[in-house]
Amino acid sequence: MAFVITSPCKEEKAGECVEVCPVDCIEEGKDMFYIDPDICIDCGACEAVCPVEAIFMEDEVPDEEHEYISLNRQFFQEN
Ligand code: SF4
Ligand code: SF4
Repeated sequence: MAFVITSPCKEEKAGECVEVCPVDCIEEGKDMFYIDPDICIDCGACEAVCPVEAIFMEDEVPDEEHEYISLNRQFFQEN
């Protein structure tokens, strides 16, 4: 289980979440930020500060945003 960043980040992308993550597992991609699911410790600090509510616990990601679960993981496999 890990937290997942979804599409609303594409509009905002200011990086507040990066500042609060205690394990530095949030990285910036071309269009949005991503969370490394292998490092995230599920603390929820990022979710609390995201101004556009783009961050969800993996099992609470809305249906229409489900592709972002694999997109977050893929980002770290490719980078
Ligand atoms: S705080 Fe939210 S909108 Fe801002 S970079 Fe992080 S996930 Fe994206
Ligand atoms: S839940 Fe905690 S560890 Fe995981 S990405 Fe957010 S701030 Fe980092």
